[in-house]
Amino acid sequence: STLAADQSVRAPLPVLGRDVTVPLVTGGEVTYAALDYAASAPALQRVWDDVAAYAPYYGSVHRGAGYLSQLSTDLFENARRTVAAFLDCRGTDQVVFTRSTTDSLNLLAAALPDGCEVFVFETEHHAALLPWRGARVTCLDAPSSPRQAVETLERALADRDPSPSSRLRSNRGGPSGPALVCVTGASNVTGELWPVRELAAAAHAHGARIVLDAAQLAPHHPVSVRDLDVDWVAFSGHKLYAPFGSGVLAGRADWLREAEPYLAGGGASRRVTRRTDGGVDVEWHDGAARHEAGSPNVIGAHAIASACGALTEAGFDTLLAREEHLIRTVREGLADVPEVRFLSLFGDDAPRVGVLSFVVEGWNSSHFAAALSAEYGIGVRDGLFCAHPLVRTLLGGDPRSQGECGAPEAAPGEKSLNAVRVSFGAGTPDEHVERFVRAVR
Ligand code: PMP
Repeated sequence: STLAADQSVRAPLPVLGRDVTVPLVTGGEVTYAALDYAASAPALQRVWDDVAAYAPYYGSVHRGAGYLSQLSTDLFENARRTVAAFLDCRGTDQVVFTRSTTDSLNLLAAALPDGCEVFVFETEHHAALLPWRGARVTCLDAPSSPRQAVETLERALADRDPSPSSRLRSNRGGPSGPALVCVTGASNVTGELWPVRELAAAAHAHGARIVLDAAQLAPHHPVSVRDLDVDWVAFSGHKLYAPFGSGVLAGRADWLREAEPYLAGGGASRRVTRRTDGGVDVEWHDGAARHEAGSPNVIGAHAIASACGALTEAGFDTLLAREEHLIRTVREGLADVPEVRFLSLFGDDAPRVGVLSFVVEGWNSSHFAAALSAEYGIGVRDGLFCAHPLVRTLLGGDPRSQGECGAPEAAPGEKSLNAVRVSFGAGTPDEHVERFVRAVR
């Protein structure tokens, strides 16, 4: 259609769902404006085409003698190389295909060496806050600037250093034992960028390692494992313009190699023997396969690789410039609406990706989001965004207090208990963001 053609010109990358129309309570219908990319971005048309082109040929990977099985194995292993290149991994790094960022971080949590301490900011998404169940976890206060984030981490890590000699980089951690820092690259609530390189330097200076939650960063920014000097990075396919069900954990091989397999089963085992006493002995694989038991999601891996290729070809400079334009459209379009308060830790002008959360004075955030959908065909999100302590802090509450995701908002005049989030990316046409601004106004 003309509209779709127009949108594809104005949005850098064509995505699925551009022609979906939805009914309005006010009558008639309108093209759906998906402004919830931070939850799940629409798949790129190119990813869908690549998946469709491969679909008739797929077969189970590894050890299949048939042609299609070999083709699938190639595709799967090529996808691993594409992701490694996309993330600018070191030569010795491993790329493990998982189900999602949540899955990737749980896999790493299951691979922590004994006695590992974990440091996280209270501002993390629950996927980064909660997986570290066997470890001693130190939850750090929300910083009010990137610099304070680094200082807070420095202080926490220094507190565990027994001596200055621990400022050595080592494989298993400093003399005070292994430690891991887990930090987001871009907040799923405020969109703000975190000082990952500086946090990695601080971690390493104290013999700790660092994993980057790039769920929100990777779809918007180039991520270089080498340049940021992070030990691992995790992201999800469905936020990177690929379909649901696939994710990545990439980084250092040693902790993963020494850990028990994340799932036990075929594919992870190199040799299985029956013992004379009736038991079963197993020798596990060392590489990525160790943590990829079962028949892997080849289509998911292929889709992620296709998205990596499309983003690289489009160029992050182009994508970022366009996203900054959309962020400006929202900020400037609502600058004279005093009831709208955007949420941020580092200040309204801090660098961010296309993710903005806000509250509207006198409005229940859930009702506000419902009205955007029903009256304007705009899909945003409301609630605490799986980052309860952060949103409570941003709303001026106590991060330690109770409150459920999507809890009802306070009465007019009282403090908000949840917020509205608008987010966009490479498939967003200007018209969607302009309609959002008009609707809020
Ligand atoms: N980390 C961040 C920063 C996120 O935004 C999300 C998803 N909202 C996750 C982790 C978890 O991703 P997934 O649901 O794909 O596991």
